[in-house]
Amino acid sequence: MKPPPFDYVRPESLETLLSTLARLENAKILAGGQSLMPMLNLRYVFPDVLVDINRVPGLAGIRLEGDRLRIGAMTRQRAIETDPLAAAHFPILPEALRLVGHRQTRNRGTIGGSLCHLDPAAELPTVALLADATVEIAREGGTRTLSAAEFILGYMTTALGQDEVLTAVSFPLWHRPHGYSFQEFARRHGDFAIASAACLLALGPDGRIERVAIAIGGVGPVPQRMPAAEAALAGTRGEPEAVARALGFCDALDAIGDFHGSADYRRSVARSVLRKALGDARDRAAAAPT
Ligand code: FAD
Repeated sequence: MKPPPFDYVRPESLETLLSTLARLENAKILAGGQSLMPMLNLRYVFPDVLVDINRVPGLAGIRLEGDRLRIGAMTRQRAIETDPLAAAHFPILPEALRLVGHRQTRNRGTIGGSLCHLDPAAELPTVALLADATVEIAREGGTRTLSAAEFILGYMTTALGQDEVLTAVSFPLWHRPHGYSFQEFARRHGDFAIASAACLLALGPDGRIERVAIAIGGVGPVPQRMPAAEAALAGTRGEPEAVARALGFCDALDAIGDFHGSADYRRSVARSVLRKALGDARDRAAAAPT
């Protein structure tokens, strides 16, 4: 397949990018192209203009800002996967990234593109929701910040306006040493997950779960937090009956069925990967330096 005809512009400053987006009607931003190009070739999207942002300075980079890890939208997935700051302060991110596509796609794909494309099984939106990340958005004349939960509206639908660009995402860091785990089941390595589970977990000095966050990807139209499961685990030592209670909430997950599997099949896979993620995160939390 070949894409429908389109014009191509390549702004070389954020100011020009924003004025271009403000002026154009049916435009699409091109970042790493690892999702947009297949969508174009399959004729799922018909933009009149592609706005290539690969030469806009200031949109890539990883840095600590207080107690947050801030990552520019155009930062390549592979750069995050191998970044020492991410490994030291937010290791679930590189762990999840190793499951995103293939090294070749990660060399070009960006974190901003993954968040904006918002495939239901994409690992990065699931981690962003898990961590209560915030996204920075710019348009001509202003900027705004949204939480991941505010940004994610529905199936492959974000809160981005036609004239807006996502410029960065920030992950708040957990102060206490904590455990983490990102688990998924996909037919082949590199395939989109049938279900994934992401977990952050901190233990108190008494060995009880002091703080836990759970997010599930690939099951419903968007990634989902599991507050009831989190509440079932908080204050416990992660005993089998507490874990069983938490896993039981997988039956309430919003799930979609397709040729990969029924909605119930996805919920059962979610239960399996969540069990593994909770076990791993708890073990890592117990081994974390106090
Ligand atoms: P692009 O493809 O350039 O753009 C994607 C969409 O986001 C477009 O609509 C574009 O307009 C918009 N966009 C991009 N950047 C911005 C921005 N800064 N502001 C506003 N809008 C923006 N992904 C996974 O999560 N998990 C997988 O397992 C996985 N497997 C893959 C396997 C293969 C073989 C391939 C080719 C891709 C796979 N992907 C997977 C997708 C890949 O991770 C993409 O890189 C990602 O989904 C999009 O990032 P991108 O930078 O390539 O964005």
